[in-house]
Amino acid sequence: MAIFEYAPAPESRDVVDIKPSYGLFIDGEFADGSGTPFKTINPATEEKLAEVATATSDDVDRAVRAARKAFGAWSELPGAERAKYLFRIARIIQERARELAVLESLDNGKPIRESRDVDVPLVAAHFFYYAGWADKLAYAGFGGARPLGVAGQVIPWNFPLLMLAWKIAPALACGNTVVLKPAETTPLTALAFADICRQADLPPGVVNIVTGAGETGAAVVGHPDVNKVAFTGSTEVGRVIARAVAGTDKKLTLELGGKAANIVFEDAAVDQAVEGIVNGIFFNQGHVCCAGSRLLVQESVHDEVLEALRRRLSTLRLGDPLDKNTDIGAINSAEQLAKIRSLSDLGESEGAQRWSPSCELPDKGFWFPPTVFTGVAQSHSIARDEIFGPVLSVLTFRTPAEAVEKANNTPYGLSAGIWTEKGSRILWMADRLRAGVVWANTFNKFDPASPFGGYKESGYGREGGLHGLEAYLDV
Ligand code: NDP
Repeated sequence: MAIFEYAPAPESRDVVDIKPSYGLFIDGEFADGSGTPFKTINPATEEKLAEVATATSDDVDRAVRAARKAFGAWSELPGAERAKYLFRIARIIQERARELAVLESLDNGKPIRESRDVDVPLVAAHFFYYAGWADKLAYAGFGGARPLGVAGQVIPWNFPLLMLAWKIAPALACGNTVVLKPAETTPLTALAFADICRQADLPPGVVNIVTGAGETGAAVVGHPDVNKVAFTGSTEVGRVIARAVAGTDKKLTLELGGKAANIVFEDAAVDQAVEGIVNGIFFNQGHVCCAGSRLLVQESVHDEVLEALRRRLSTLRLGDPLDKNTDIGAINSAEQLAKIRSLSDLGESEGAQRWSPSCELPDKGFWFPPTVFTGVAQSHSIARDEIFGPVLSVLTFRTPAEAVEKANNTPYGLSAGIWTEKGSRILWMADRLRAGVVWANTFNKFDPASPFGGYKESGYGREGGLHGLEAYLDV
C-alpha cells in the first residue's frame, strides 16, 4: 500500500535513437556478423528493441587480429596521451549521460533512477579515475611493467555499461587493447560505447565489441592470441572459463557469484539498517553479485527489524523502469524470472515463510515482487544458492561469533555488511569475515578507487583502484 499516490514521471525515450539493427564493432568500424542475428528486447514490455549481429569464431578472430594490430602503437603511446583519450571518453559519457541511462533502462529493465544516478555516473567516474593513472603507473608501484597485450573480456547483463567500464578503463590505461563481449540480453549500451569510441577518435582496433551468446564468449576466451581474460558472471561459467584458460599463459581474473550476509546487531539504528537492507537486496532487482541476500539479524531485534522492513517494503513502487518514481524495475529476462520463481518456490517447499507486500505486477514483461523469507535455516537452498533476484532470506544469531560463523558458511565470499553503533565490533567482524568487501553501516557503495573482488567461489583478482591496474600489467 503506497502512502500516497505519485503522478507518473516518465523519462522521455526521445533522447535515444535505437537503430533497427546493429553490427559488430571491429577495427573502428561497424561490420556484419557471420552468425544469425538475435533480437534484444525491453524486459518491461517484451517489445523488440533491435536486431544484433552474432559474432562467430571467425569474427572473433578478426576482432582479436584488429586488437593485436592496434596494440603496438597504443602500448607505445606515452601514458599522458592514452590518458587524453580516456578523459575524452569520460567527458562524452557525461555529455551523453541521459541517453545512456535511458538506453540502459530500456535494454536491462532497471529503474531510470538507478541507471541515471548510479550506473552512468560510476561509468564516467571509472574512466576519469583510470585516465588519471595512465601516466602515473610508476608512482603506483608499476614502473617498468608492460601491458599484457590483447584482453578478452566477457561481461554480464546486470550492470552492462558499468561492467564494460570496469573492464575497459583499466585495460586501456595500462596500454592493452580489448575485445569485449557484452551479455546477449543487454548489448545496446556497449554498442553505444563503440560509437563513443569513434566520437573520441580512439585509434581503430583499441576497443572491439563482439556481440553474441555464450559461444561468442567462449571464442573470445579460447582465442590463442588473447593474453588476458577478464570475466564477470556466474560461478558455473567461471569454472568453464578457468578450465579453458588452464595450461595457457593467459592471465585471468574472475568475478563470480555471491551470497552476502548483511548483519544487523541489536544496537544498530533500525531505520538506517532497514534502508541498508532494502538497498542491499532490492537495488537493481537484486541482480547484484554482491547483493545482501542473507539478512542475519540479532535475535533480540528480529521482530522489530522485520516489522520496520515490511512497512518499508510496502512503500516501494514497482513498475515502468522509465518512471522516475520507480524503485523496482523489471527482471532482465524470462529465463532469470523462471530461475527466481523456482528457487523461491523451493524455499517455500523447504519450510521457510514467504512474504511480499501487496503490489500489482504489470501484465506484460518480466516481474517479481520484493520477497522476504523468514524462518530460514542455513541448510535451506535459499540460504545457500545465489538467487540473483529481489528475494531476501532472513536468519538470526545471538552472538558476534555466531554471526561470523553463519556469514562465512557459504562457498562464496564477495561482500558483507555490518550494522552496529560500535566501531570496535565493526573492526572485529571485518577481520573475521571472509569477504572481499565489507561495508559498515552502509551497503552497495561503489567507488572506482576501491578494489572489488572475491574469496573462494566468488572468484579471484581485483577490479578497481590500484589493484585493478595490476590485473592488466605484466608484474
Ligand atoms: P553467465 O555467467 O552465463 O553470463 C555471463 C557472460 O558470459 C555473458 O556474456 C554470457 O553470454 C557469457 N557466457 C556464457 N557462457 C559462456 C562460455 N561458455 N564461455 C564464455 N562466456 C560465456 O550468466 P547468465 O546470464 O546465464 O546468468 C545465469 C546466472 O548467473 C544468473 O541467474 C545469476 O545467478 C548468475 N549471474 C551472476 C552474475 C554475477 O555478477 N555474480 C552476473 C550474471 C549472472 P550470454 O549472455 O550470451 O549468455
